Amino acid sequence: MDLLDSWRDLPAAQQPDWPDPARLRDVAGQLSKLPPLVFAGECDQLKAHLAAVARGEAFVLQGGDCAETFSGATADDVRNKLKTLLQMAVVLTYAGSVPVVKIGRMAGQFAKPRSKPLEVRDGVELPAYRGDMVNGFDFTPEARVPDPERLLRAYHAAAVTLNLTRAFTQGGYADLRQVHAWNHDFVAESPAGQRYERLAGEIDRALAFMHACGADPEEFHRVEVYSSHEALLLDYERALTRIDSRSGLPYDVSAHFLWIGERTRQLDGAHVDFMRRIRNPIGVKLGPTTTAEDALALIDRLDPDREPGRLTFVTRMGAGRIRDNLPTLVEKVTASGAQVAWICDPMHGNTFEAESGYKTRRFDDVVDEVAGFFEVHRALGTHPGGVHIEFTGDDVTECVGGGHDIVEDDLHQRYETACDPRLNRGQALDLAFMVAEMYRIGK
Ligand code: PEP
Ligand code: MN
Repeated sequence: MDLLDSWRDLPAAQQPDWPDPARLRDVAGQLSKLPPLVFAGECDQLKAHLAAVARGEAFVLQGGDCAETFSGATADDVRNKLKTLLQMAVVLTYAGSVPVVKIGRMAGQFAKPRSKPLEVRDGVELPAYRGDMVNGFDFTPEARVPDPERLLRAYHAAAVTLNLTRAFTQGGYADLRQVHAWNHDFVAESPAGQRYERLAGEIDRALAFMHACGADPEEFHRVEVYSSHEALLLDYERALTRIDSRSGLPYDVSAHFLWIGERTRQLDGAHVDFMRRIRNPIGVKLGPTTTAEDALALIDRLDPDREPGRLTFVTRMGAGRIRDNLPTLVEKVTASGAQVAWICDPMHGNTFEAESGYKTRRFDDVVDEVAGFFEVHRALGTHPGGVHIEFTGDDVTECVGGGHDIVEDDLHQRYETACDPRLNRGQALDLAFMVAEMYRIGK
């Protein structure tokens, strides 16, 4: 049997109960004939950047929706998210004085693991929504039936998103001379926008200075934004895995970077088995129950050759636990000689339900978890390698606190996420300024 299929004999958590397996096989067959969404060479490039992160020379900004939706694959939505990502990256690069590796939770983040298989509303019980790639968000029995056709739609939605992303980032929109333009619709109404405007003014002067000196590097005119998502649905990921013609090695060409979620990182499970076979740079989420032994065993499975850039640990402990839980993990992993990149996801350990029933997160907890992450790494002399966040480019009201001080009673105003609560644009920019400061101070 092809080793790329050995996961099929292992327990796979969080897979949908497809009612028609023959239809699933047919769809997987179609997917396997479609063109790659990314190229193996691009994945290698990202791996090299992540190796620099592991060495302490660069910082990762990874973010986007918790769950992308098919209806969100529009020019406006994608541009707004990219704009926010670019603004955050500029803040980090300039105020933190560090090269920033930009990775979107975009162009493929359509499948969700769920803590409960069923959702109950007013006494009615239906299968949980598992992302647009699996079933519909509407709370009706019809919408919630898993439909394999959705895998094909996810591929196409990822393709249009990636196409827009490539055009925006390579075609002039991401040119550093646009640093003010990204902020136009934002500057007047928001403290974060005003703070950003001042920084953009400084960048302008720096650019003019460089230009006067005769320097105009290519990096000022275009940026690299890589795609990533949780590799949850193994039928989809397997169907999009191809042998790279240059090296003869398998790459999952559904995205540049793929990660294993907190609920699917079982050592002897299907996800770890599949991910060890592909050559992309990969990540694993590590929640508060992770032991150092778990982390070391994951390294042995997923990065036996200790290839720099191959493996990223994305910790999501919760603000109250990071200072207790992270040191041992980092210490033992470092002592083992493995060169992983460490990234902080300050979102998933800090979710709670507001009295109104909305799932939310406190901006202050998010900031505090990142602060704890920096403290731990500074104390150990290791590198705080980046942040992984859920945000959107719109002014939603999903997380409480931040510049506009959203309170729990405001949540209903613009609560639009299909899954977890995201930072809005102002909160995301505020966070970028704070992270830049934490980065610079400890250097
Ligand atoms: C997520 O990233 O949306 C997610 C479900 O995270 P985790 O696996 O860390 O819970
Ligand atoms: Mn999430």
